Amino acid sequence: MIAQVTLDIAIGKEFDYLIPDDLLGQIEVGSRVKVPFSHREVLGCVTALCEHSPHPGVRPILKMIGRQSLLTPNVLRLARWIGQYYCCPAETALKSVLPETVRKEQKGWRERLYVRAIPSVQEPPKLTKRQNELWHLIQERKQLPLQELLELTKSTAATARKLEDLGLITIQLEVSERDPYANEVILPTLPLPLNTDQAACLARILESINHCDSNRPDTSGTPDRAGQQGVPHRTFLLHGVTGSGKTEVYLQAIDHALKLGKGAIVLVPEISLTPQTVERFKARFSSGPGRTLVAVLHSHLSAGERHDEWHKIREGRARIVIGARSAIFAPVDPLGLIIVDEEHEHSYKQEEAPRYHARDVAVKRGQDERAVVVLGSATPSMESYGNARSGKYGLLEMPVRADDKKMPIVRVVDMRGEAKAHKGIPIFSTLLKEAITRRLEMKEQVMLFLNRRGYASSLQCPLCGYVAGCPNCSVSLTYHRKIQQLCCHICGHRTPAPKVCPEVKCRNPAIRFAGLGTERVEETLGKLFPHARTVRMDSDTLKRKEDYRRILGDFRTGKIDVLLGTQMIAKGLHFPNVTLVGIIYADLSLHMPDFRAAERTFQLLTQVAGRAGRGDVEGEVIVQAFTPFHPAIQHARRHDYLAFYDQEIEFREQLRYPPAARAAMLTLRSRNEDKARLSAEHLKQVIERDLKDVSDLMISGPAPSPLLRAENFYRHQILLRTGRMPTLTRRLATVLKTLSLPEDVRLTVDIDPVNLV
Ligand code: ADP
Ligand code: ZN
Repeated sequence: MIAQVTLDIAIGKEFDYLIPDDLLGQIEVGSRVKVPFSHREVLGCVTALCEHSPHPGVRPILKMIGRQSLLTPNVLRLARWIGQYYCCPAETALKSVLPETVRKEQKGWRERLYVRAIPSVQEPPKLTKRQNELWHLIQERKQLPLQELLELTKSTAATARKLEDLGLITIQLEVSERDPYANEVILPTLPLPLNTDQAACLARILESINHCDSNRPDTSGTPDRAGQQGVPHRTFLLHGVTGSGKTEVYLQAIDHALKLGKGAIVLVPEISLTPQTVERFKARFSSGPGRTLVAVLHSHLSAGERHDEWHKIREGRARIVIGARSAIFAPVDPLGLIIVDEEHEHSYKQEEAPRYHARDVAVKRGQDERAVVVLGSATPSMESYGNARSGKYGLLEMPVRADDKKMPIVRVVDMRGEAKAHKGIPIFSTLLKEAITRRLEMKEQVMLFLNRRGYASSLQCPLCGYVAGCPNCSVSLTYHRKIQQLCCHICGHRTPAPKVCPEVKCRNPAIRFAGLGTERVEETLGKLFPHARTVRMDSDTLKRKEDYRRILGDFRTGKIDVLLGTQMIAKGLHFPNVTLVGIIYADLSLHMPDFRAAERTFQLLTQVAGRAGRGDVEGEVIVQAFTPFHPAIQHARRHDYLAFYDQEIEFREQLRYPPAARAAMLTLRSRNEDKARLSAEHLKQVIERDLKDVSDLMISGPAPSPLLRAENFYRHQILLRTGRMPTLTRRLATVLKTLSLPEDVRLTVDIDPVNLV
């Protein structure tokens, strides 16, 4: 028997290996194996089995890793698709579908010595006082880790061994599972009675789940054919305003899938994978008897915890998975439902190869495995809403808050007027200052939002025009006051802040800071509201993983009056006592050199505003802006997603930007600017010559990236657009195989890019 193996090292093809007799019947498609390769031993995945190999002298597999195949056929198929669609080598795609800790050779399980009592009817033999103490404890607990026993009784292993010799207990090495939530007590919750909108949305999802269940896959058909065979709406877009109760719909849909014997994957953006979110799922499904395990996968778990969570899923013990981007590859089988919450979030896109978008992978996986996919958002991406409009996705709508709470009133302050009145730009407008004062007096809570950390975004000399820039990147350095340093937010470069202008001919002592960051807002807040308990939350203040949890806990219990932060506080948080949300500088994201700038601004404003008024008191949002009449700000003010979409789609269609077409970004980078530019020009010529048959192809560039230099690499880009992306990626892959570039020039291919800088 021969196994075809894709090696972890990037070779770009599969190799045949002989399955030795002792592993026959154990090795299957999806198994991880160790094989000889030239003079080395390397790891790989079995991707196919066959009787004979056409190659002479096939070498045997050395070893199998793990107890069962790690890749399920479904996930393997998904990995292949990712390799093709996202234009990356198969081994790169395969690597990303298994967590590192599961892939590697070492045993990932934690083994511990366990002590167990041996049931016996006979009188125990006479024991010493010490031995008796141990014996009593073991009898009482039936079983416990040896380490714990010794700590509790303050005795040595020799005493326990003596009891073992007497035949009273066993001491054995056993796997002990790590549970990242072991110390938490979570009270069970019951399903809420749904309101009319929720009930209608749920009914359509359940109908679809039932439909998928009753027509078991015809395994011969491709997913697309199955789609044409009349299974409508297997993918839904759930457009529900913030607070409309989307989570309750998810919970009840999952419950239904479980009852049909199927599992579910819930994707949430890393940033909103808060303990609060996880708790809502665990509370419904993990507490109480006969309930299913909820496995959690995210980057804050230790490698060991991730290993154990993953195997709980693979073994079918955990049937619900909640996690960030890569949880879309969780080996849930059979899969009934995939939920992608906050589907518009850009963090679903992986910014290194394979550059996949977890939402799009979810839709593909749903099609392949006949699972229902629900994409939820208060501010759907233009792509998903476009798909709902065209009928590709089913549209579910929940336009009001679950408990009939009103949407907050949004006021926009024209900061140009404020600047005139104050003879300079104030951080807080009069309106915002007064509103904060009022809320604090009423013992209500305030959230303030500014999506830029640090004290000032640049250090400038008003005399000679000097601006402190990063030596490695084409950006100005941000001043961080607490550490008195200038920092680059791209590459991390740091340098002490100068006290005078560093230009030799200038030396002006009156250098000044421009552009606002959270650190500066915090300082001003302290001066204006000395009695308010204020906490800043951004990636500079969060040093350890517990910090996030602790600050949110303090805010919830009212130990903090004003929470100030970056986008970290914009997502998914739910604090009933927050009645005022202030957005310090709303047009910050409008100035990004990106065709999605307006969309991002609209989303961010709507999400932040959604944090206000989730309790009994009506909420209020104050938006400070220098372009108060920009459509993104005005539509967000009126909570009018549709009006925003209609206006924005017109612009995208005119210029053929996504979703009017699909895009691929090719970036060439080199430490030498000429080489990057010339290679980009060469690549464009190759594409023009070889991709003639992609009839609607639009080629823009090459042009310098908006951020020309990052981490010492110069970048030049070509943007491709087409309505037929699968064709383009297939053709592109052939072109790239024969493309030769100078040694120090690297090419990245980003299909459906979300980041154009
Ligand atoms: P979303 O995810 O849409 O922003 P949530 O799921 O967080 O909204 O729901 C907002 C609040 O409304 C939560 O406190 C939730 O418990 C409550 N809620 C949801 N559905 C109902 C319902 N049917 N009846 C009463 N309260 C509900
Ligand atoms: Zn830099």
